[in-house]
Amino acid sequence: MNDTVNDFKEFHWLMDMIQTIDIGLVVIDAQFQIKVWNGFMENHSGLKSHQTKDKNLFETFPEIPEDWFRHKASSVFLLKCRSFMTWEQRPYLFKFKNYRPITGTEEFMYQNITISPLVSTTGEVEHAAIIMYDVTDIASNKKLLERANLELEELSRTDRLTQLNNRGYWEECLVQEFARYQRYDTVTSVVMFDIDHFKRVNDTYGHQAGDEVIRQVSEALRENLRKTDIAGRYGGEEFGVILPDTNADNAVIFCERLRRQIEAMEVVHDDQAIRFTVSLGISEANPKAEDYKDWLEQADQALYACKENGRNQTRIFEEGCD
Ligand code: GH3
Ligand code: MG
Ligand code: MG
Repeated sequence: MNDTVNDFKEFHWLMDMIQTIDIGLVVIDAQFQIKVWNGFMENHSGLKSHQTKDKNLFETFPEIPEDWFRHKASSVFLLKCRSFMTWEQRPYLFKFKNYRPITGTEEFMYQNITISPLVSTTGEVEHAAIIMYDVTDIASNKKLLERANLELEELSRTDRLTQLNNRGYWEECLVQEFARYQRYDTVTSVVMFDIDHFKRVNDTYGHQAGDEVIRQVSEALRENLRKTDIAGRYGGEEFGVILPDTNADNAVIFCERLRRQIEAMEVVHDDQAIRFTVSLGISEANPKAEDYKDWLEQADQALYACKENGRNQTRIFEEGCD
C-alpha cells in the first residue's frame, strides 16, 4: 500500500515537472492527435491543455508542413528511432512569437525539435513525444556572427577611398579570369588606367582635392561597368578593369567612353574647378602571356605607350609593343 502511495507521489511530481519545465513537451498518438500539452506549450501557443487534447496536430497548427512531418514521424513509429530537426533545417515547427528581450528583433521562436518513440508496456510504439527547445538566442547570435563575418569579408576586399575592389582582391579575380582563359580559351581583356599628371592635381589643389578626383574617377568607372566586369583600385591613382567576354576592339569602346566622360568632368573642390584626363592600356588575353602577371604587364606597357605619346588616350597592347 505504502509503495503505491509513493508511486503515485512520484508520478505527481513527475507531472508537475513536465508541466513547469522550460522545454516544450507534446505527446501525440499515431493518428497525430495531441495527448499531452505542457505548460511551456500553453504559454507560447495561448492554448490550454484541454483545448488541444485529442485535437489533430495538423488541423490545430496548419503551419506544420504535414507531408514532411509525417515522413519524420514515420521513422519514430515504424522503426522506433528518434528523429531530430534543427532550426538550421527549419526555423520552427510551431509558429510561436518571440518574446525574449535580448533577441527581440527575431519575430519567431527558433526551435530545435526531437521526436522520441514512447514504448508501451506491450513493446508497441503508439505514442511519440515531441520535445522542443527554444534556441532563439543561439540562432540569433549565429546569424549576427555570420552577418558580421560577411561584412568583414567585404571590408577586407574593398578599397576604403573608392569602395572599389582593392588590389589584393582584384588580383585574385585576375588570376581566376586568366585561368578561365587558359582552360577554355575564352576571349577576355584587361585594362590598366592611370590619371594623367596626377601629381599636379595634388600639388596645385592639395591632397584632399586629389582624393576627391580619385573618388569621382571611380564613380565614372562604376557607371560604365557591366555586371560581369570587375574593377579595382590597383594603386594610388591607378585602376584595373577585367572585361570578360570582351575582345580588344570592344574594350576600346569601353575605354574611350570612360576617357571622354572623364575628360568632360569637372571636380569642384573649395570652389575650384579641377579638370583632368586619363590614359588607358588594354591587353586581350593571348598566348604570349604565360601567366596573369604577363597579361597585366602587357596592359601596363600599352598604358606606358599612351603616356609616351601625349596621354589622354587608349592603346591596345600589340606584339610589337614591347
Ligand atoms: P603620369 O601622367 O605619368 O601618370 O603622372 P602622374 O603625376 O599622375 O604620376 P605619378 O605616378 O608620378 O604620381 C602619382 C601621384 O599620386 C603621386 C602620389 O603622391 C599621388 N597619390 C597616390 N595615391 C594617392 C591618394 O590616395 N591620394 C592622393 N591625393 N594622391 C595620391
Ligand atoms: Mg598618373
Ligand atoms: Mg601612376
